[in-house]
Amino acid sequence: MSVKTLTVLGAGFGGLATAYELSKLLPKNNRVLLVDRKRKFSMGLSHLWLMTGERKTREECERDLAAVEKHGVVFVNEEVLKIDPAKKTVKTTGGEWQSDYLVIALGAALAPAEIPGFQESALNLYEIEGALQIQKQLQAFRGGRVAVLITRTPFKCPPAPYEAALLLDSYLRGRGLREKTEIDVYTPEPQPMPVAGREVGAAVEKMLAERGIGYHKQHTVVRVEGHKLVFDKAEAAYDLLIGVPPHRPPQVVVDAGLTDSTGWIPVDSRSMRTGFEGVFAVGDVVSIRLENGMYLPKAGVFAEAQGAAVARIIAAEVLDMDARELFDGKGYCFLDVGDGMAALGTGDFYASPAPRITLEPPSQRHRIEKLNFEKTRLQAWLP
Ligand SMILES: Cc1cc2nc3c(=O)[nH]c(=O)nc-3n(C[C@H](O)[C@H](O)[C@H](O)COP(=O)(O)OP(=O)(O)OC[C@H]3O[C@@H](n4cnc5c(N)ncnc54)[C@H](O)[C@@H]3O)c2cc1C
Repeated sequence: MSVKTLTVLGAGFGGLATAYELSKLLPKNNRVLLVDRKRKFSMGLSHLWLMTGERKTREECERDLAAVEKHGVVFVNEEVLKIDPAKKTVKTTGGEWQSDYLVIALGAALAPAEIPGFQESALNLYEIEGALQIQKQLQAFRGGRVAVLITRTPFKCPPAPYEAALLLDSYLRGRGLREKTEIDVYTPEPQPMPVAGREVGAAVEKMLAERGIGYHKQHTVVRVEGHKLVFDKAEAAYDLLIGVPPHRPPQVVVDAGLTDSTGWIPVDSRSMRTGFEGVFAVGDVVSIRLENGMYLPKAGVFAEAQGAAVARIIAAEVLDMDARELFDGKGYCFLDVGDGMAALGTGDFYASPAPRITLEPPSQRHRIEKLNFEKTRLQAWLP
């Protein structure tokens, strides 16, 4: 058996899961390289806890990516500049090399500049710095209008902005400011989490309504002007703006000719193979069309499960065995609702004719499970 070089691009949820599983499944003489321009990893879900001050500092959320080397994975802290999927070569700020297998896990890029005025006015919940700014501004907040703005679809973790609104409600009640504050969610979506179906959407809308949070669906923002949101058909004033910027595929995968008309990388829905031999893609960077015509949501649990499936496929090929357990489209998500509670959404997104999702009511137990979700991954991937 010849020694292989396996390159994983992107050390987020998908890349870390892929590299970790490869390191467990393959003999150590194979080279697993994990490339990322960042030095640290943190989960998006921790932004919500930073926002409310439940976590005070970024250090409480971040881990050094170099810790992956304890698994025998080589961490390459460089920017990916060019991918040639036909040759399986990658050019980075540090050099160029060829691989036997390439796994693309570069996530979704955020494009706040696409909405005029967004960058100047909105606090970006989807960046760790933005979450910290929200924490600071909330501490100084004495009441007024808080807007949670979803600018465009698709965006990662479809429940996250709703969780943000529910957590804000809980936080402001705790500070005795809720009576003096209006909270409104604005979104171009027809309901919360459309892919999860009508029932789940209605359950989330009910939670918002019960807490007096305004919900404005089918509102597509055109620009942010001072303290005003300008939509395609209305306007709304705000004092504090918490925003989800537009998402775009990383330019390097577009330039590599890997994307299709969806803008993202098309893959086989179970093996995560791209159209190029030995090249796989996982996580937010891919688009997978479901039976009902919608797309698999962009979420860490899927990126992780896809990465693990890809590692099993690659290891089976390298070791000349049959690959088992492909990606099955199943996933779950703990939804923070405030007051130390979380609901649990569980689903089979590959079900026919449409995803089958159930939502378990909020409980303290699910909140603890959410904390454990983060802890177990960080401990395993970055010990
Ligand atoms: C507020 C919030 C809450 C969330 N809550 C949940 C949750 O509860 N459950 C859940 O499952 N998901 C959640 N998510 C979504 C989850 O974070 C993403 O879906 C997940 O991170 C996707 O993993 P990925 O590996 O595809 O991409 P990412 O984790 O984004 O990783 C991509 C990596 O590629 C690197 N990269 C990109 N371009 C380059 C380049 N050119 N050169 C070098 N490196 C590059 C980036 O630095 C990054 O580290 C949440 C997200 C947010 C923002």
